[in-house]
Amino acid sequence: MTKDEPTDAILAKARAGGRISPGEALAIYKSADFLKVMDAGRAVRERRLGASVATYTLFRIVNYTNACTAGCAFCGFHRPPGDAGAWTLTPEEVLGKMRAAAALGARQLFLQGGVNPGIPFDYYLRVLGAVKDEFGADMHIRAFSPSEIRGMEAQTGKDARAVVRELKSAGMDSVAGAGAEILSDRVRRELSPNKVTVAEWVRIMEACFEEGLSGSANIVVGSIETPEEVVEHLGVIRDLQDRAGGLLAFIPWTFQRQTDGFPLRRVPAREYLKLVGLCRLFLDNVPHIEASVLGMGREVGELALYAGADDISSVVIEENVLASRGLGTEGEARAFIRDSGFQPVRRDLLYRMQGRPAPPHPPDAHC
Ligand code: SF4
Repeated sequence: MTKDEPTDAILAKARAGGRISPGEALAIYKSADFLKVMDAGRAVRERRLGASVATYTLFRIVNYTNACTAGCAFCGFHRPPGDAGAWTLTPEEVLGKMRAAAALGARQLFLQGGVNPGIPFDYYLRVLGAVKDEFGADMHIRAFSPSEIRGMEAQTGKDARAVVRELKSAGMDSVAGAGAEILSDRVRRELSPNKVTVAEWVRIMEACFEEGLSGSANIVVGSIETPEEVVEHLGVIRDLQDRAGGLLAFIPWTFQRQTDGFPLRRVPAREYLKLVGLCRLFLDNVPHIEASVLGMGREVGELALYAGADDISSVVIEENVLASRGLGTEGEARAFIRDSGFQPVRRDLLYRMQGRPAPPHPPDAHC
């Protein structure tokens, strides 16, 4: 039996469906017992989504270029444009990778690259069009982070909504809310000063949602961020979702070692699990919370399903940015979920469950 704590009343409010403030979220993150936060996160997940099912999906990541001007300190994938190690796939090469992935059962493409000003805007339209011409509406294309879309704005002189409208009519189905890391300008100035600012990230995601795309977003902890900045990030996400909707899922991630000299901090399991619980409690308007099995490993990933997460993120067929230690096949994903005590259900990037009717809108969502 754990002793009563001042944060117990906040957790009880969140369990009952009350919205917690950023100040209350900070109190939970800084001082609540992590087991109590997990328990509250699990209770809210069960109330909103049920207790029996955990989902997964299968998609192919294609990194279409590694040339990037952003130069984020944590990224070992990119090369400066013009570097001998920089490359860009042709639309035909992207298509070839998708044919191989489709043969393994993938019907979803995650298209992501660096910010490469050497690529003409027409290239993106041709890549999207080539995949759609071959696979039709059967292939869902999630593509482009706000940083990449800002690069397209600079190149075309068009605003984000006009750029997204063209991408959407060429075949883009949803947006990759990647590149958020920590939505605090203090952290971004330190780790990724050439990447989109917080205001730019929000502006471009909002433009995507206004144009009818949905997507996901993440947070990446394990560096110089403070608890206050973690809560600041969650507040940016919740406010964006209140205004524009569009986010189907939120994924708490941890930085992984990719470069020398990056101020990497090991995230203890209890900190990650508390963060998962807090995300479930604070983001009352985001339907799904995904556990990072890829980043935290299977044991912590399993426990995250008992802290408020309802999805194990994904079976990724290729990921150049981060070497995989996740789940390599659909069979492994299903066995992992079953061994964790849940019924595995495959979903797509729009969270439509295979063999099931569309999921109900969560009763206490604010969007
Ligand atoms: S993380 Fe993305 S935006 Fe940053 S340097 Fe790497 S490829 Fe470029």
